[in-house]
This record gives sequence, structure tokens and C-alpha cells, in this order.
Amino acid sequence: MDFQYIVVYNDRGYYIWVGFGFWKVKALLKAAESGGCMRCPYCGHEDSRVVDTRTTEEGSIVRRRRECLGCGRRFTTYERVEEVPLVVVKKDGRREVFDRNKILRGVIKACDKRSTAVPVLEQLVDEVEKDLRNLMEPEITSEQIGERVMERLRQVDEVAYVRFASVYRRFTDAQRFIQEVQALLKNHAGD
Ligand SMILES: [Zn+2]
Repeated sequence: MDFQYIVVYNDRGYYIWVGFGFWKVKALLKAAESGGCMRCPYCGHEDSRVVDTRTTEEGSIVRRRRECLGCGRRFTTYERVEEVPLVVVKKDGRREVFDRNKILRGVIKACDKRSTAVPVLEQLVDEVEKDLRNLMEPEITSEQIGERVMERLRQVDEVAYVRFASVYRRFTDAQRFIQEVQALLKNHAGD
């Protein structure tokens, strides 16, 4: 149910309401049930009464028969829950669909021969994904992903963090790499 939006359209195929984001879904469903956000296709009145609700066989579409409280005419709305596609803009400008598993593979690779359990890494990736989806942007950059992964990986496994960062940031100069490691050591001085 997470990260989905609901499209409500009427029997003429017009989109009349688009809700976005998980946090809105419940409110939207409630509004859809009460008919509060539906415009009558005949007179434009915003209030309608739901006279009948049916779910399609697959359960993916909810069909509601409504009666306009303004003109009394009846119309039908359909509600469909859809996945929100998240597009990643890569450094060279190419775009690809966000792939959670790709991030997970990168993180697992960075944790090779380390003691961090895979469920911990899965949770890490979940958090990153949630964070990115909450930006409510249709497009995100690979940089935004990388920064978030590093931020969390640093708290989970510092060695894996340095490995990930060295691949991600392509530490071309050794100096940058040393700085990163020194920063970690400095943090430990206070432990
Ligand atoms: Zn009406």
C-alpha cells in the first residue's frame, strides 16, 4: 500500500482527482467515500452522495455510483490505486526507473565479509527509498541516492561505508580517501 496514489476518474474517462503519497491515501479514500471531492460532470457541484459501491473482481478498481446533491443526476466514478514511478537521473543525464535491488546489491557488496546481516541492509535500503519517495519528486538524482545510502551506512558499518564511498565517489585521489578515513578515526577518538 505504501507509495501509491489513487486516480479517480468518471465514466467519461476524465481524471477528476489525483491523490499522491501514502500519507494522503486514507484521507483520500475517506473523501472519495463521502463524495466530498467529486465534481458532478453535469453541473460541477462538488457534493455527491454515494448510492452504490462495487469492487471489481481483481479488487483493483472501486466503482461508485453517485448522486449529485446539486442537480440530482447520477454518475459513476472509478478509483484505481497505482504505483508511483520514480525516475533516477544519472550523472550522464540518462534516466532509468528506480531500482531498489540495485541499491541493495551495492550495499551488500560493500559489506562483503563483514558481520552486518542482510535484513539490516534491507531495512537501510527501505529507509532510503522511503526518504526518496517522501521528497514527492517524480525525478531524483543518483547523487541524492548515494548521499543517503552513505549517511546510513556510516552508522551501520564504517568499513562498508568507506568501501561504498570509494566506489560511489570514485576516490580518484588518495588524499580524499585518507580524509574520509581520518574523519572516521576522529569520531572514534571521542568514544
Ligand atoms: Zn449535478
